Amino acid sequence: MTSIVDLRSDTVTQPTAAMRNAMMTAPLGDDVFGDDPSVNILQGKIAEMLGFESALFVSSGTQSNLCAILSHCQRGDEYIVGQLAHCYRWEGGGAAVFGSVQPQPLQQQADGTLALEDIEGAIKPDDAHFARTRLLALENTLGGKLLPFAYLQQATQLAGSKGLARHLDGARLFNAATAQATITGTNVCEEARRIASCFDTVSVCLSKGLGAPVGSVLCGSREIIARAHRIRKMAGGGMRQAGILAAAGSYALDNHVERLADDHALAKRLADGLSAVPCLQVERPYTNILFVDLEGPAKKQSAGLIEYLKSHDILVTGLYRLRFVTHMDVDAAGIDRVIAAITKYFL
Ligand SMILES: *Cc1c(COP(=O)(O)O)cnc(C)c1O
Repeated sequence: MTSIVDLRSDTVTQPTAAMRNAMMTAPLGDDVFGDDPSVNILQGKIAEMLGFESALFVSSGTQSNLCAILSHCQRGDEYIVGQLAHCYRWEGGGAAVFGSVQPQPLQQQADGTLALEDIEGAIKPDDAHFARTRLLALENTLGGKLLPFAYLQQATQLAGSKGLARHLDGARLFNAATAQATITGTNVCEEARRIASCFDTVSVCLSKGLGAPVGSVLCGSREIIARAHRIRKMAGGGMRQAGILAAAGSYALDNHVERLADDHALAKRLADGLSAVPCLQVERPYTNILFVDLEGPAKKQSAGLIEYLKSHDILVTGLYRLRFVTHMDVDAAGIDRVIAAITKYFL
């Protein structure tokens, strides 16, 4: 029996035996009373890792972004955000639906950044005609791309100088930090902290490349996290013996950060293998996400290719472009099987 190579997302990972053991043995309490030691340990750990006063364990990245935006903004406020950003495009419009907070989406540049002049131009003057611009929300990595650190500094300084709060959707913050560490030659946690230092709040997914089954964490000042805690309650996100999940998150932070480099190496291996296939336009992967476009007459074959791969026990998504995401449950042999199958398809 061949095993399935599932490259649809890094969310598909199964908890390892050691992680399950950490979950099974976690001390638990009722977190709505603030009594769950394992939740408190996780929140303290991530806050310290990223240099914040406080943190909040939440059920998902979507809930984390919602709590963050509604903590920074009131009804009739707006947040500046990229057209492709998850918290604008892929979260059901939650901030508008639940918070009456209006997004001000901006077109991203090819490198994933929002042009500084676009940000500045979108900040509304204090005038009754306009929503009050309150927040800049960035995302790193964005579609697997690392935003340049100098850019993060400039954009967040600009926002700060205009009185805007700054939120980072760092669902894959540690992937960004891993890529950045290879540029600067320093350590991943130091880079994660450096990126986080540009922002008032940072959201990190534990359930993606870090390999935990469920959960995200939102970091910020004590004051902002107290507000987020209230919003999490309203969103139905007060979880009781949540330590059984938080323990998996702590385990992931302790054991699965350094290994993200392996996922990045596998994405590169896949890109190198596929770049030899005619009809494929292969984008350079910065981290663990690889985008591939079909060229010329092959363009129409994308649905066919996805079905063909499925029949070979290889799962990928292709809503707009083919997307391959590497993670801890795929290995080099699996990646080589994908390269061989796709090469054969176009033969
Ligand atoms: C996955 C993701 C989220 C949302 O996380 P869920 O846990 O699926 O709600 C938010 N932002 C980014 C950038 C993501 O990749």
